[in-house]
Amino acid sequence: MRKIFFDHISTTPTDPRVVEEMLPYFTSQFGNPSSLFYEHGQQAAKALEEARAKVAGLIGAEAQNIIFTSGATEANNMAIKGIAWANEDKGRHIILSDIEHFSVLFAAQALSRWGFEITRVPVDSYGIIDLGALKASIRADTILISIMHANNEIGTIEPIVEIANIAREKGILFHADAVGTVGIIPVNVGELGVDALTLAGHSFYGPKGIGALYLKQGIRIDPLLQGGFQEAGYRSGTENLPGTVGLGVVAQIAKEEMPSRIEHLLILRDLLWRGLSQRIQDIHFTGHPTQRLPGHVSFWVENAEGESLLLHLAFKGIELASGSACSSNIRGRTEEDLAASQVLTAIGVPSHICTGSLTISLGKDNNREEVEYFLEVFPGIVERLRAMSPWK
Ligand code: PLP
Repeated sequence: MRKIFFDHISTTPTDPRVVEEMLPYFTSQFGNPSSLFYEHGQQAAKALEEARAKVAGLIGAEAQNIIFTSGATEANNMAIKGIAWANEDKGRHIILSDIEHFSVLFAAQALSRWGFEITRVPVDSYGIIDLGALKASIRADTILISIMHANNEIGTIEPIVEIANIAREKGILFHADAVGTVGIIPVNVGELGVDALTLAGHSFYGPKGIGALYLKQGIRIDPLLQGGFQEAGYRSGTENLPGTVGLGVVAQIAKEEMPSRIEHLLILRDLLWRGLSQRIQDIHFTGHPTQRLPGHVSFWVENAEGESLLLHLAFKGIELASGSACSSNIRGRTEEDLAASQVLTAIGVPSHICTGSLTISLGKDNNREEVEYFLEVFPGIVERLRAMSPWK
């Protein structure tokens, strides 16, 4: 059976060019970057620093301000907890949006045991943060604002520059989770005005298990991990050299190929959007119509349950996401959590519908024919499910 992958927001395949560059670092180039007295170690240290420069180049940063981590979850935890702990003498109040990824939300919530307080700022029906509410939520003891650059579930891109200006005026540090955007659309830390920014390799054709935190020069954080002082003491532990090399290579490729990839994604996205609007009655698109990721289409359809749609699509070999792309099936969540996506609840979608939304995230290797095949099979699936629906 043919397979069509439309869930690139949850992960992407590692680019074979990246894998090829990584392979020697598992075998012949196995050195430890901290072992500088002999050649294997020196080569490893050189490769690590080259990768750091390439990652920095993708986001307009200086290499010395990139800290490699095991992924975005760690980078988000490092930013939130590290900044909070290092600045607790100034205050213990943190502001998030209502639609942050769980690795930001739960990292911040975990700080409550150290006496920190969290305010979550609402978003409008497109998922754009309410800047008035953000300003109103700032207190004398606010030390950090953390708002994601683009939302994985509804594709909306947040007004990061405006948020950074608000934070700067008040002397508050600003972190952005940019997993949805780095390597996909242009991200420049200087232009955005962020103090810290999270990225992950596997969201743009790099390997899994590697990410980075950009930390502006002079910002203090307390490390999450104590140990051998790797990564300038911010992140101890022998580096994941193959992963780091892979992240460097993919950063370079993404920078070069980004304009043509965006053009390709926009053509496919518009084809998909138009096709769905024309073929499906009572379809509701979610997220902002223009301020959104280029390959991202999200929607719900009346009287057709999302998970059933996904299963029927999977029978046809089409893979896409429902609810939160990264976490629609995690252990430890309550039934209530699973019942409704916090993002869809935040944009005002009624809770009985929140389980019924779909997210299509296209990738660089998808093509017109795949989108047309989806548009051919999807209306029939919707019709069949609607015919069985008790709500119709
Ligand atoms: N932040 C966002 C916006 C995400 O979509 C994800 C998941 O892909 C993460 C953070 C966590 O990334 P990872 O699972 O690579 O640590």
